[in-house]
Amino acid sequence: MSGREAERDSSCSGEKISVYAESSGEFRVECPICGSEAIVRESLYELPKVGKAVLVSVVCKVCGYKRTDVVPCKVKKRIRIYYAVDSLEDLNARVIRSAAATVEIPELGVSVTPGAAASTVVTNVEGVLRMIQDAALSIEVLEGGAKGFAERLEKIVEKGGRFTLIIDDPWGLSSIEPPKSSAKLLVEEVEGSVNEGG
Ligand SMILES: [Zn+2]
Repeated sequence: MSGREAERDSSCSGEKISVYAESSGEFRVECPICGSEAIVRESLYELPKVGKAVLVSVVCKVCGYKRTDVVPCKVKKRIRIYYAVDSLEDLNARVIRSAAATVEIPELGVSVTPGAAASTVVTNVEGVLRMIQDAALSIEVLEGGAKGFAERLEKIVEKGGRFTLIIDDPWGLSSIEPPKSSAKLLVEEVEGSVNEGG
């Protein structure tokens, strides 16, 4: 329905309260994990390359659920980039990951969503693996398995491996550039994923 859209529209016009943030609002929703009351904060930002965007964070104090999203006010096409890595050389492919892009590696059961402080990162596939490694070790999202998981990534960085690197970018700004033209790369435009019906 349009309720959520209306909220976003109102979030997209506001007074400037800092360099980037122009306005912020707070409301409550039901926590998707435990059903308790979770707090949603929305701040309007002016971001380089993207323009106005609403930063939405959801925090549940009861179960610790946290989620941060950046929603551009101006609709851009969401893209999903798939890169089939199967050699050491593939780790050198250049990767540009926008601040809104989620990085997934299904074979490793990994999905890294950008944090509130995320910025656009220019790196390569190896750098993405390092980023995931750091995330695993610092947040210990995988509980006791973080160390073993980090070692597994280390092995891939050293010897190569077979996996699919997926970048899901609601802003459509991310890219993967293999060293030579490659059939291993697929870029898919996702229709109607942002601002549906708007
Ligand atoms: Zn909760």
